[in-house]
Amino acid sequence: MSKIPFERPVINKVQAGVADKFGMHAGFKTIPYIDGVPVKDIIRQNGSPCYVISEKIIRDTYKKAMTAFQTRYPKVQFAWSYKTNYLNAVCKVFHQEGSWAEVVSGFEYAKAIANGVPGNKIIFNGPDKSNEDLTLAIANGSYIHIDHFDELYTLIELTAQLGQKAKVAIRVNMDTGIYPRWDRFGFNFENGEAWSALNKIMVAENLDLMGLHTHIGTYITTPNAYAVATSKLSDLAVRIERKYNYHLKYIDLGGGFASKNTLKGAYLPGTDTCPTFDDYAEAITTALNDSDIQYEHMPTLFLESGRALIDDAGFLLGSVLANKRLADGRRSTIVDIGVNMLFTSFWYEHEIVPAQITQNDTEDTTIYGPLCMNIDVIRAAIQFPVMNKGDHVVINRIGAYNMTQWMQFISYRPKVVLIDMEGKTHVIRENETHETMNALDVVPGHLAEFDL
Ligand SMILES: *Cc1c(COP(=O)(O)O)cnc(C)c1O
Repeated sequence: MSKIPFERPVINKVQAGVADKFGMHAGFKTIPYIDGVPVKDIIRQNGSPCYVISEKIIRDTYKKAMTAFQTRYPKVQFAWSYKTNYLNAVCKVFHQEGSWAEVVSGFEYAKAIANGVPGNKIIFNGPDKSNEDLTLAIANGSYIHIDHFDELYTLIELTAQLGQKAKVAIRVNMDTGIYPRWDRFGFNFENGEAWSALNKIMVAENLDLMGLHTHIGTYITTPNAYAVATSKLSDLAVRIERKYNYHLKYIDLGGGFASKNTLKGAYLPGTDTCPTFDDYAEAITTALNDSDIQYEHMPTLFLESGRALIDDAGFLLGSVLANKRLADGRRSTIVDIGVNMLFTSFWYEHEIVPAQITQNDTEDTTIYGPLCMNIDVIRAAIQFPVMNKGDHVVINRIGAYNMTQWMQFISYRPKVVLIDMEGKTHVIRENETHETMNALDVVPGHLAEFDL
């Protein structure tokens, strides 16, 4: 029998924290394995820090979301939001599951094409599409979601010059009862702008109106906002039916479903407050089924969910660099994960846990990253056990936005590893090196030499 480790007795000052009437549980969670693979082995083979993606969690989450919608509405199509995580391996898991691609730039569009997505299964959103981007999207028969009148007029001109038709939809913004309202994208519903844009498209010779789109925001925790959005888009579809006897192919409710992460300042943990896919599906499909859209012409329901489909599948592994006491006596732990690698730490209280069994007694601790910057704080205050230099930590639910909004800063970006369905690990993105970081720098001749 192994000796039980000694735990020093501690007296902790009670910190005012988040607790419901039952109090928070006393045990301390650890994550020693991801999909059966020991964290310490992943770090030994790939270095620290290291991002990990679980293919199994992606596929399971996708299936859960698809089932929630498909059981309530017959025609559902997901399109993977590239900007949420555009590592090619990740996109391809979604494409294997049947997802189309949803892109918001020429760069993402090129990525989707290079990943093998047929042009007519790409949804092209966003306010920034160049004439070259639009020309390519028209030629490929992609769905162009028009953001503003300037883009609408550009498309009318371009399609006339090219003698080709474009498949289009408009993005609609509206009051869904949540604030702040995202009224900077698309055409407004309430002030009649969306209706005017639709009429302009209907009379434009080379524009084929395919559907209606909205993306009401992100991390939306009120499913009812989607019910309101669905009703408003359905109203527009019905008006088009009545005026033109024309039936739209799809209604696209965008993304924005919340993930289980906890927002900074939230009273309850995200795991308690995040609606389920069933909650969102119930709100959207009920509004759609209850609308006056003609039954024989019920549109396909497009969904562009990003965050909610990938957040849980991402993990960031790291190591403890040091412990130290701050001047006021508070404990701090420095880890090798900086905020530049964890962009979402600016608005989430990320869960960070040890990768090995530790003592159960915890102390109020600040967790700092390794950057030489005062803002590099992973958690300002967390009840944390003492960990030794070299011990490993895991931050979970980091799959959304961190591998696209990461910033190269002070040192190299690390590897990303995928754990496949059999528990085998694959490097899906290499770490940066001195060579990759210098490849784009150019030094003018007169600066080549110096004498010190
Ligand atoms: C970012 C974005 C999405 C994905 O949003 P999530 O909040 O990650 O679900 C979907 N559609 C559009 C147009 C977007 O800009």
